[in-house]
Amino acid sequence: MKAKLSPELQKLIKRNPLASSAETDRVFKGDLDFGLLKYAAVAGQKPEAWAVCFAIAGENGASFDQAVANVALDACTGLARWCFSDGRDSVGIVAFRRLLLESTTAPLEPDCERFLEAVSVAEGEAAAAEARALVTRRLPSKRAVPQAAAVEVPMQRREHAGFSPVPSDNGAHSLGGFDIAMPVCPACGVKTRLWLCFDIEAEPCLAALKPVWGLLPMVSCGNCDAWRYRHDYQLDRDATALILTGIWAGPDELKTVMLAPQPPLERQSVALEESDTATLSHELQVGGQPLFRREPLNPACPSCKSPMVFIATLTSSNVFRPAIALKGSRYHFACFRCRTLSVLAQV
Ligand SMILES: [Zn+2]
Ligand SMILES: [Zn+2]
Repeated sequence: MKAKLSPELQKLIKRNPLASSAETDRVFKGDLDFGLLKYAAVAGQKPEAWAVCFAIAGENGASFDQAVANVALDACTGLARWCFSDGRDSVGIVAFRRLLLESTTAPLEPDCERFLEAVSVAEGEAAAAEARALVTRRLPSKRAVPQAAAVEVPMQRREHAGFSPVPSDNGAHSLGGFDIAMPVCPACGVKTRLWLCFDIEAEPCLAALKPVWGLLPMVSCGNCDAWRYRHDYQLDRDATALILTGIWAGPDELKTVMLAPQPPLERQSVALEESDTATLSHELQVGGQPLFRREPLNPACPSCKSPMVFIATLTSSNVFRPAIALKGSRYHFACFRCRTLSVLAQV
C-alpha cells in the first residue's frame, strides 16, 4: 500500500475511473497492486488504461516489462499496439512475443511489421532475424514477411521527382496559415514558419505516412538564418503542435544569424500533382527521390539512430503568389518510429 499517490497518477486515475467508484477509491487510497490488475483487465476494451498501468508500475518501483508476463493473453494485442504507438517498444515487444508464442487466435498480421522494426532497433539484427523466422512460422505463406527493417514508402513508386504542391481552390493541403502550432525559432524568437502543410488522410499518395502523422508540415524560420543548421522536431499526437527538440548549432552560432522580418504568410489551398520527371531542377517536392544541391544527405534519427526517410524538399517556388523565396533547399526527413521530423539545408 502506498500512502500518497503522485499528482500525475491521481490525474490519470481521475481521467480513467474504474467501473465502480469503490474500486477507483481503493486505488486512490494506495492499493496499487489491485489497481494494476483492474486497469490491465479493462485495457482490452480501453487501450488508454495501459497508461494508468504504466504509471502505477512506475509508482510501485516495479518493472512493467515483468508485469506483462501476467497480463491476460487476449489483452496482449491491444497492449502491444498501444505500446508501439506510444514509444514503449520494449514492452510492446514482450507483449507481441507472447502472442506469437502462446496465442493461436490473436490477429498477428497488422502489428508484425511494427514488431520486427522494434526488435531490430532495440535488440539488433540477430534478434530481428530470429523474430522474423518466428513471424514467418506463425504467418504461413500468406505473404512474405518484410526482410528489411527499413520503412518502405510507396510514394517512392517512381524513380524520381515525387509530387509537387500547386495552388488549388479546393486542395486538401495548405500554404501558410496556422494549421499547426509552431515552435519559436531559438535564434530570432519569432515563430517558425509553417510553409506548407499536407493532410495525410486526404492524400492517397501519402498513405505511407499513416498513422504516424495526420498532418505533414514543411517548416523553416522565415525571419533569420537559423535554417542553415539542422533542426529536429516532433509532431504531437493530435497533429496540433510541432515541438522543436533540437538544433545543431551552439549559442554563439545562433547569435550571428541575420534578422530580416517577414510578414505572416496568409493561408491558401494547395493540391499535390505528380511531378514532371523530365525536369531536374530544384523544386518543391513531396516524396520521390530528393535532388540534393551538394552531397547526398543520409541523416539518422536523433532518438533511435535509425536511418531517416526522405519526405519532402522545401525550396523557392514561383507557382505560388506571393512566391516562396528561400536560399537553398530544406530537406525534410522522418523517423516513423519516433515521430521525428528533421530538416537539413543545403545551398
Ligand atoms: Zn529564426
Ligand atoms: Zn527514431
